[in-house]
Amino acid sequence: MTKDDIITLPNQHLRQKSAKVGIITDDIKKVVQEMEAATIDWEASRAHEVGVALAAVQIDSLLKIVVLRNNYDNKEDHTFTTFINPEITKLYGEIIEDYEGCLSVKDVYGKVPRYSKVKVKAIGLDGKELRVTAEGFLARIFQHEIDHTNGIVFVDHIKDDIAAFYTLKDDGGLEELEYDTHIKDNADLWA
Ligand SMILES: [Zn+2]
Repeated sequence: MTKDDIITLPNQHLRQKSAKVGIITDDIKKVVQEMEAATIDWEASRAHEVGVALAAVQIDSLLKIVVLRNNYDNKEDHTFTTFINPEITKLYGEIIEDYEGCLSVKDVYGKVPRYSKVKVKAIGLDGKELRVTAEGFLARIFQHEIDHTNGIVFVDHIKDDIAAFYTLKDDGGLEELEYDTHIKDNADLWA
């Protein structure tokens, strides 16, 4: 799979809940491989962005699967950890606003409020239970990705916030998008 297999808004599948995975079959493992390949291919096409994580719905497979880069500070490291049926068991800490982008939302970034700490329960590819406590950016990633498995896109959290939307400039910096002209009636985002 390539970056072209990643679906983007206004595709309505992004607003649907994914189904729980039952047995981890070879077909499930294939979906995981395809998610990883699509993420790496997407990243290879972007100068200033990293493909940190992906949910299966983003390659149009409506299953509760998330893959997360093991070392997203190093673009050379193409290894991932798989979280099957991931669930947030606890949200805590403070609410912090920070920038988020999404492989399924073209050219729009947002400043999204999220909890600073999170506890996550999931199943690994080996079928064993995984429990993770995360904070900071990693906590944000889990909230963003688990939202995808529940049909929620990051823009849904900031829909009415006139100062929360940004776009990426050619030099990799972010520039605020004017809400009334670019966001408010944007048919792609709110279809
Ligand atoms: Zn996303």
